[in-house]
Parts: sequence; structure tokens; C-alpha cells
Amino acid sequence: MTTGITSGGSDSASAPAGADVRPGGCLCGAVRYRIALPPKWVAHCHCSMCRRAQGAGFVTWVGVPEGAFMLESGADVLSHYKSSPAAVRSFCSRCGTPLFFQSTRWPGEMHVTLATLDSADGLEPQAHSYWSVHAEWADWRGRELPRVEPDE
Ligand SMILES: [Zn+2]
Ligand SMILES: [Zn+2]
Repeated sequence: MTTGITSGGSDSASAPAGADVRPGGCLCGAVRYRIALPPKWVAHCHCSMCRRAQGAGFVTWVGVPEGAFMLESGADVLSHYKSSPAAVRSFCSRCGTPLFFQSTRWPGEMHVTLATLDSADGLEPQAHSYWSVHAEWADWRGRELPRVEPDE
């Protein structure tokens, strides 16, 4: 199957002139990409596979049409894991950053992790997806925890 992730030159970007193009990338900087805004949706996903794949309580995804996604660099270090018959998760094999998700359940969409965008300005999550299976410890409603700044 194809992941839909291809590297291309600048001439393959399909964002119209004047579009709000938002860059992003992995921790080590090998993988760089950009998406054209606005997204189709922004949502926290609490499903067990996302939680385990990210090593986190939940993951916030930004869904864009495939045509609004452009891989700028790092195709050679991007690894793809088929987490279910329908879904492929892509991450940087050098630094481990989870980056992309595609599934036949959402054909024509590319999902990118909000946290890997250089700026989340204007991208407000609209929903908690798979809340029915959320991690209890990741639900901070009604819990006031001390806010600390670990010493460097
Ligand atoms: Zn990396
Ligand atoms: Zn999920």
C-alpha cells in the first residue's frame, strides 16, 4: 500500500498563493513538512493506539486534505508502521518523533501531530476523540496539581 508520503520539489506544493502555510518538523530536524491551513479539523485522540504510539496521555491531531500536505525533507529517515490493517503511522527513525497518520477510514486526509508544527497559533482543538477509552490519569478536570518548573 502507499502511504501517500512522497518528497517533492517546491513546484509540487499545491497551496494557492496567499494561503497560510504552516511549517513543522521532528525533534532532530531531519523531517520537515508543511501544511496549508485551514485544517479540516483539530482533535485530541484518546484511543489506546495513539496513546501508546506517542507514549502520552493523548495526542492532538490536525487533519488536512492530502493535497494540503507537503513533505519538504527527511523522506529517507521517515519510518512507517502499519498499526492496523487500515492505518499507517510515520515517525522519524533518527529521533523518534511521531509525525503523521493516514488511514483508509479517512481517505484523502493526512493527519499531523499538532505538537510538531512550529506554531500552533489559531489551531484550537475542537473535540476529544475516543473519549470513551481515555486514560483516567490524563483527565485533569477537577484536579489542581502544583505547577512546577524543574531546575535546569
Ligand atoms: Zn528526527
Ligand atoms: Zn487515536
